[in-house]
Amino acid sequence: MRTFITLLVTTTLAIANINVSGQAQPLPQQTRQTQQTGSAAMNTFITNLMSKMTLDEKLGQLNLPGAGDIVTGQAGNSNIAGKIKEGKVGGLFNIKSVAKIKDVQKIAVEQSRLKIPLLFGMDVIHGYETVFPIPLGLSCSWDMEAIERSARVAATEASADGICWTFSPMVDIARDPRWGRIAEGSGEDPYLGSMIAKAMVKGYQRDLSGNTDIMACVKHYALYGAAEAGRDYNTTDMSRVRMFNEYLAPYKAAVDAGVGSIMASFNEVDGIPATANKFLQTDVLRSRWGFKGFDVTDYTGIPEMIEHGLGDLQTVSALALKAGIDMDMVSEGFLTTLKKSLSEGKVTQAQIDVACRRVLEAKYKLGLFKDPYKYCDEKRAAADVFTAANRQTARQIAADCFVLLKNQNNILPLKKGSTIALVGPLADNKENMPGTWSVAADFSKAVSVYQGLKDVAGNDAKIIYAQGSNLSDDSLFEVRAGMFGKALHRDSRPAEAILQDALQAASQADVIVAVLGESAEMTGEASSRSDISIPAAQKRLLEALVKTGKPVVLVLFTGRPLAIKWESENVPAILNVWFGGTEAGHAIADVLFGAVNPSGKLSTTWPQNVGQVPIYYNHKNTGRPLAEGAWFQKFRSNYLDVSNDPVYPFGYGLSYTHFTYGDLSLSSKSLKGNQKLTASITVTNDGQVDGKEVVQLYIHDLVGSITRPVKELKGFQKIALKAGESKTVSFTITPEDLKFYNSDLKFDWESGDFDIMIGGNSRDTKTARANWTK
Ligand code: BGC
Repeated sequence: MRTFITLLVTTTLAIANINVSGQAQPLPQQTRQTQQTGSAAMNTFITNLMSKMTLDEKLGQLNLPGAGDIVTGQAGNSNIAGKIKEGKVGGLFNIKSVAKIKDVQKIAVEQSRLKIPLLFGMDVIHGYETVFPIPLGLSCSWDMEAIERSARVAATEASADGICWTFSPMVDIARDPRWGRIAEGSGEDPYLGSMIAKAMVKGYQRDLSGNTDIMACVKHYALYGAAEAGRDYNTTDMSRVRMFNEYLAPYKAAVDAGVGSIMASFNEVDGIPATANKFLQTDVLRSRWGFKGFDVTDYTGIPEMIEHGLGDLQTVSALALKAGIDMDMVSEGFLTTLKKSLSEGKVTQAQIDVACRRVLEAKYKLGLFKDPYKYCDEKRAAADVFTAANRQTARQIAADCFVLLKNQNNILPLKKGSTIALVGPLADNKENMPGTWSVAADFSKAVSVYQGLKDVAGNDAKIIYAQGSNLSDDSLFEVRAGMFGKALHRDSRPAEAILQDALQAASQADVIVAVLGESAEMTGEASSRSDISIPAAQKRLLEALVKTGKPVVLVLFTGRPLAIKWESENVPAILNVWFGGTEAGHAIADVLFGAVNPSGKLSTTWPQNVGQVPIYYNHKNTGRPLAEGAWFQKFRSNYLDVSNDPVYPFGYGLSYTHFTYGDLSLSSKSLKGNQKLTASITVTNDGQVDGKEVVQLYIHDLVGSITRPVKELKGFQKIALKAGESKTVSFTITPEDLKFYNSDLKFDWESGDFDIMIGGNSRDTKTARANWTK
């Protein structure tokens, strides 16, 4: 009892210390809570704080406006300052610079009544100023340690500049490459996506105790990647069984990893926009998964429900709160309507309190009550951002994300002493190297392919550059594909004249390196495409280069799987480089010249044409499957005009060396209950150079109470093998790996036969069968 009383007194004193003149003193913090620790201390602290808050102040915590017009040193004059002083703002996002953030935080903790610090969020998606490859590229490294490291560097840099909250990781499963935001996620597979979600959350947050640890926000919950026809923001509808088995796992993985916040998606699910979808935001997220953090809308997610047809701002704001949303990004629907809804009995005080508590808890967990300036160390801003060490890390990681799709006659790596014709609209372009969502980057500091080749080759290569074509024949398309300062440097001469320069360069060269594909803003938000091939202007250039008979290496930039059947058949070498970040040019040169042996593997299936979409490796068999290797069979599930095969399967990627897989051995062919199965295979590097290989484990559950995919990724190991070296790789399989959601949405496994498959991609595997009974 004594302990309880002491605690009550100390914490009450600690909170909102308002003096007689009405001026609040700096808010003393957890330090006073000597009697309690952990969540008990947090609860007591927040309960006491909330007992001081007016309804308006509580609603203020739920309000997340954009940064607006803040100018360094002038924060007090900004539009937003007045609202902060009145306690009407819980956080701000996308303000860049520690000086501005410190100024704004000062207004909150010195001039608002309760001195509650603000959250400062930003879209730190794949790096801060040091930009890493786009997430789809990062996923192709299949290297969880590297991905975690990229998030750690991003957190270190962002936190040095005042940011304590990032709107990342984006974990939406995407099977439709028309959808531009496929670039921001980890591809089509729920298992790989889950591993990456965990690695990112860990990299950003660690335990949130240090001033380089920032809160993550997993997004966009849920099913945003399943937009019909790949058109951004479009309707999503699917069965619960599909949702649970194929789409939800990465969000859950982030929750299990302790992610501090989650963002609702724009799309509807089951006819209810995710922002007002209680099934998603409460029943699954809180009741099933036990999520303890706070739930924020996406940008204007609340008023967009007016357009969805759910009612006026007051109605949709109430719906969002009742569904489980805690914070309103941008719209001020919560701020301006919930008071009225409360008075009309449309929401309850308890619902507002829960949301307010969760936002305050986030601030508490970040340590902002203890030190509102925890992330405002100007010395760190000068020392920790865009460092040589961070750029070096970005360069190494980028090189491991590139996927070698083809390398006929070992054209790559390029031979020293060659004359290289470097052509293409992306060959001498810095601005597009970081890719979509690189809001904090200074594009002028990015390294172009041309610069990278010169830096790496030095005097060992002669490089003749020509642009060769524009990105697109259509100048208006280029405007749409070159937004946010990602200039494309259009050449206004006729296409034929631009092409002649390239052919002239090619005629003097031993090898042609064609740097083509998509610009950075051809993927990302609101960047869907109905045609996923290389734009015609560039395709003509590539065809003309191939016609010269000189060896051609296609360095392909893209944020999505492209339909490159012709290229795969006619261009001798293809290195897919996504958007590699700040150091893209150096990393590409490292791989082209062989300093780094490529080891990336695709995290998506690459279709032959857009008509095959959605095409993904973990599909169902159907009742009329096509016989393996066959096409066309009448009354079977296939097309008249194209086979069912992709151009490149999930998990695919070549190396400058070659790996051979031995036979797959199982520790037992018949298992019971919770026994463990070990599946082993010997992998040999039988080429001439050292290399890294991603050894992939797939399982096919042959018979189930619901139909099961033809295979599912269940494990992988990225191993390094010296030339000539062999290693035996083992995977331990438990019944946990056999579980799926049945038609009652119960997560369990069923007795039966299982095909265990191991290989270097999802198509080319060795198989052995085991029987497992309960
Ligand atoms: C995007 C989110 C992003 C948010 C804040 C939205 O348009 O969908 O991914 O985090 O803006 O910038």
